[in-house]
Amino acid sequence: MISSRATRVKPSPTLQMNAKAQEMKAEGIDVISFGVGEPDFDTPDNIKEAAIKALKEGKTKYTPVGGIPELKDAIVEKLERDNGLKYKREEIIVSCGAKHTLYNIAQALLDPGDEVIIPAPYWVSYPAQVLLNDGVPVFVETSEKDDFRLNPDMLEEKITDKTKAIIINSPSNPTGQIYDKGSLEAIADIALKHNLYIISDEIYEKLIYDNNTHISIASLSEDIKSKTIVVNGLSKSHAMTGWRIGYAAGPSEIISAMTKIQSQSTSNPTSIAQWAAIEALKGPQDALEEMLREFDRRRRFLVEELNRLKGFRCTMPKGAFYVFANVSGLKGTTSGSRRINSSSDLAMYLLEEAHVALVPGEAFGAEGYIRLSYATSMERLHEGIRRIGQAIEKLQ
Ligand code: PMP
Ligand code: GLU
Repeated sequence: MISSRATRVKPSPTLQMNAKAQEMKAEGIDVISFGVGEPDFDTPDNIKEAAIKALKEGKTKYTPVGGIPELKDAIVEKLERDNGLKYKREEIIVSCGAKHTLYNIAQALLDPGDEVIIPAPYWVSYPAQVLLNDGVPVFVETSEKDDFRLNPDMLEEKITDKTKAIIINSPSNPTGQIYDKGSLEAIADIALKHNLYIISDEIYEKLIYDNNTHISIASLSEDIKSKTIVVNGLSKSHAMTGWRIGYAAGPSEIISAMTKIQSQSTSNPTSIAQWAAIEALKGPQDALEEMLREFDRRRRFLVEELNRLKGFRCTMPKGAFYVFANVSGLKGTTSGSRRINSSSDLAMYLLEEAHVALVPGEAFGAEGYIRLSYATSMERLHEGIRRIGQAIEKLQ
């Protein structure tokens, strides 16, 4: 019999949708994938070269569990340069992707029954990871009219004597919204008042548009820094999803607990990927700028086109590479014997009818919405929109 823990969670719906689209492609169906959040760009050459060099130099052995000192120092430098945060080496841990970093945090912080506050819509793995670690996810709804930002009063209402931490994700997956300084200050005040940890997932930090800026909540004061674990990684900023490098910065007792746990689970992240990560953090950043310009072009195109479609409404995301569209207007429509009762029904209809893969809002705790990743070429976006438009026209 498998454990009750394993039955508590479902497979990651974002990865599942990706697998489904890949399967259809393998069957020869031309699927357009707006599903998974993965940059379509290749990892920049200078980063690949650094990995090849490491390989040739024989850097192929176990490394210190929490990462090589050279990479930790590059992360310390990055956090100071980009976020105004000063950390020491012992306050940094490198793990096998930010997903693993977050998992280590849950392992290090949670006792059975501990509650973690998660603003909804949320990234799919937050509640699952809390559940896998015997914790209780507690959701705070946010709404489109508030730009999906956490309302401090609603947040405070959810705090109990079991609350251990609050997860903040800015820029957000799936909504693309970002927290401004005032909102972060309000959250920080509440966290300090109730002695809660903040888990600040900043993985989309570099993907910000217009004149918006990213602020790390840890940079607001020394007090809130001492309660925050900053999470980041290279998957999105440097198109390095397959390399599996994520990291955390935070109080040394939490980082050392995470390192101890990692020493008994995965050991170090891949040695070669760590050397490549140093180049990603310290080398030229022009590929990132180019990627950002292209994402911005796609973002504008997609929002404009989606807003033209019957039953769709979406606001302009400020960061990340997702559009989170309100499709509640299509509820109750039909095509032949098919009836759209939920955003899952709509996602399935679009997959089967238009061969377009996207993720229904239910996966993120937000029925009535769908998430489209625009980490795909402009040409595919045009074709995808055309197909969605045709399929939507058939819904009466
Ligand atoms: N946080 C968020 C919000 C994400 O969207 C992702 C995407 N996979 C991750 C963390 C984890 O990324 P990775 O494990 O590839 O570093
Ligand atoms: N974070 C990405 C997404 O939301 C990658 C998939 C995953 O890790 O869940 O699509």
